[in-house]
Amino acid sequence: MVGQVNGVADTSGQPKIGVLALQGDFAEHIHMLGEIGICAVEVRKVEQLSEIDGLIIPGGESTTIVKLLGMFGFIDELHRHVDSGMALWGTCAGMIVIARDLADPYPTPLNLIDIGVARNYFGRQVDSFEAELEIDGMDGAPMRAVFIRAPIVQDTGDDVETLAVIPATDDGRPEQAVAVKSGRVLATSFHPELTEDTRLHTLFVQLAEEARTDASRRASLHHLTEETPSTV
Ligand code: GLN
Repeated sequence: MVGQVNGVADTSGQPKIGVLALQGDFAEHIHMLGEIGICAVEVRKVEQLSEIDGLIIPGGESTTIVKLLGMFGFIDELHRHVDSGMALWGTCAGMIVIARDLADPYPTPLNLIDIGVARNYFGRQVDSFEAELEIDGMDGAPMRAVFIRAPIVQDTGDDVETLAVIPATDDGRPEQAVAVKSGRVLATSFHPELTEDTRLHTLFVQLAEEARTDASRRASLHHLTEETPSTV
C-alpha cells in the first residue's frame, strides 16, 4: 500500500525512482534497478515527477529527448523538482540534456547541473569503446564503462565534484571528466546500465533516499503542489 506524505510517495521505506521513458535505453536502467531490489517506474507524464524521489534520464539521442521534454511540458517542472531536492541522473544523452551548456549548437540543454559538455567527443576516433574507470568513493575493482558516441565534461562549476576521469592518451587526447556530481545530481558520459555492475545505480538510490527523507523537500513540494498547477 503506497502512502502519501505531503504529496511525496512513501513506499515501504524505499525511495521511488522513475526513468524517463520518452526515448532511449530506459528499459536497461529499469532492469538494473530491479537487480538491486528497486521497482522503478517509466516516466512519460510530467505529473509523475511528484511521485518520485529520483529521476534517471537515459542514453539515447539528446536532441530528440530535449524536444520531447519540451513538447510534454517537462522543462519548468524538472527545474522545480530538482531545485527542491529531487535526485537526478543523466547518462550519456541524459548528461547532455541536463548540462548548463554545450560545445555544440544543438540541443539547448536544460541547465540542471553546472557543467559544460561536448557531444560525440570520441566520435571521430572510435564510436564505441570500453574502459576501466576508478570512481571516487566507490569501493572495489575499477568499473567497466561503456562509451557509445559519448559526451565529455569540458568544464565544471564550483559546486561540481568530478567522480571519474578518462586518462590522457599518448596520441594527445587530454584527461577528461566523465562522471560528475553536484548535490543530488549525477551525470555520467558512459552507460552503467549496459554492464552488470550495479554500483552507480546503488549510489543513485542513496541520493534518492536522501531526497525521500529530506523534510525541507517535502515541505517545498507540498507548497508547489498547492500553488502550482502541475500541467503548466
Ligand atoms: N551521441 C548521442 C547524443 O548526442 C548520445 C549517445 C548516447 O546516449 N549513447 O545525443
